[in-house]
Amino acid sequence: MRYVVTGSAGFIGRHVCTALLAEGHEVVGVDAYTDYYDPVRKRANTAWLSSRDRFTPVERDLVTEPVDDLIEGCAALIHLAGQPGVRLSWADGFDTYVDRNVNASQRLLEAARRTRVPRLVLASSSSVYGQAPASPCREDTPLRPRSPYAVTKRACEDLAGVYRALGLDVVALRYFTVYGPRQRPDMAVRRMCEAVEGGPAFELYGAGHHVRDFTHVDDAVDATVRAMRGPTSEVLNVGGGESAAMVDVLDRLGQLAGRPVPVVRGVAQRGDVDRTGADTAALRRLGWSPQTPLNAGLASELAWVRARDQGLVALAGRAS
Ligand code: NAD
Repeated sequence: MRYVVTGSAGFIGRHVCTALLAEGHEVVGVDAYTDYYDPVRKRANTAWLSSRDRFTPVERDLVTEPVDDLIEGCAALIHLAGQPGVRLSWADGFDTYVDRNVNASQRLLEAARRTRVPRLVLASSSSVYGQAPASPCREDTPLRPRSPYAVTKRACEDLAGVYRALGLDVVALRYFTVYGPRQRPDMAVRRMCEAVEGGPAFELYGAGHHVRDFTHVDDAVDATVRAMRGPTSEVLNVGGGESAAMVDVLDRLGQLAGRPVPVVRGVAQRGDVDRTGADTAALRRLGWSPQTPLNAGLASELAWVRARDQGLVALAGRAS
């Protein structure tokens, strides 16, 4: 089987590619190495994947460059490329989000229909729910995005619906706060791990009482692969099932590290919602259930940060 993964040099993308390669498949990984965070880290992911058999890296910008030749004849297309994060999506930042999320996805959906891709899995986000009146959210909970980023993800889902009506088999995955080894450097758990290991103090936005449904990356990968192979569905929540407030996560990490995480207080951020929570009944019908409890998952990310700081990650590259 040949699979195409966009955003292959990113956090979730690298893990998805690794899992597909481990199953013995051929993987074409597409990435543009955007500067949302240091592209050097992304190129290191590609270098590692390229050292495996059956991985073909392709540097291409989905906003501007053709893609038909890449996806024609593939068994499935997993579209993870995009501009993540809420904070930069305000003001002048919005154009980039529209380009990298909405325009890139529309071009890919169009190409997937043209070339008859059997299944397209598209990365959406829990942020489309916004400030939901109740938690956990089912997939049919009304969407009320609270940030420009979330608006672009909702637009991607709407576009998926448009192309689904034209016959394309496309499923959108609403990922809930994915964490674990190699997490994006802007995300909270990564910044906490680095703070407790001697990096800059963790900036806690507001009082830290906002609650997130945390999903370990191994569980997110399992969900992604099942969504790629399972019966047709339109939208699936991907949530790890263990919710915790930021202050609780700080406490847990402090206990795991054996010392408190250094914290500086910052202001509450626009677009941050009080709580996210996933009802995962639909995903569980595909045989999925989360396997990584929060404490074990936090320990895995802390261990990765420590190994990286000790220069061991290159040696330990095979481990997630
Ligand atoms: P990431 O930034 O690590 O990976 C995204 C990759 O896409 C990057 O390597 C980037 O270079 C690439 N990319 C961006 N624009 C591109 C373009 N125009 N052409 C080709 N490549 C491009 O992010 P991630 O955390 O791995 O997230 C993957 C996807 O999942 C994103 O769409 C994100 O919005 C979504 N998501 C992630 C989370 C999470 O918790 N990590 C939660 C909800 C949704």
